[in-house]
Amino acid sequence: MVRVSVKCPHCGKSMMEPKKKLDNTTAILVHLTYAGKNSPLHLSSAYGSYKTETELGVPIGKIAGFRCPRCKADLKSTRKCDVCSAQMVAFDLKEGGQVQICSRRGCKKHILEFQNPDNELEAFYKSYLKAFK
Ligand SMILES: [Zn+2]
Ligand SMILES: [Zn+2]
Repeated sequence: MVRVSVKCPHCGKSMMEPKKKLDNTTAILVHLTYAGKNSPLHLSSAYGSYKTETELGVPIGKIAGFRCPRCKADLKSTRKCDVCSAQMVAFDLKEGGQVQICSRRGCKKHILEFQNPDNELEAFYKSYLKAFK
C-alpha cells in the first residue's frame, strides 16, 4: 500500500491526523462544508482508497466545500474535474507535488502530480494505471 502525506497549500501545516486511522493508516483531516454546515472529514491516505468518514451527509452527486482545519483556507483548485466539471480540491504532497480530488460526492476523479519524476509514488502510479488497462 502506498500512502500519501499531505499538507495545506496555504499555511503549509500538516493535514495528517495521527489520532485517526482509516485503512490502518493515518487519516487526512479536512473541514467539509455543505448547505451552511461544516464538519470534520477524514480521508484515507492510502492511495487509491476512497474511504472517508464524516458526520455530515452530503448527497451523492452534490458538491461540497473543503477547508484547511488549521487556517480555514478554501482548498478549491483552479482546475475543473474533466469527468463532471466540478471544481477540484488541491492538497500539497509533503514530498513535493500535489494531489487533487473532485469536490463532487461520488465522483472518483483524482489526480496526482509530481515535482520529482523519479519519485517512487509516480513509479507506483504508473504500475497502478497499467494494472487497470
Ligand atoms: Zn491551512
Ligand atoms: Zn468530478
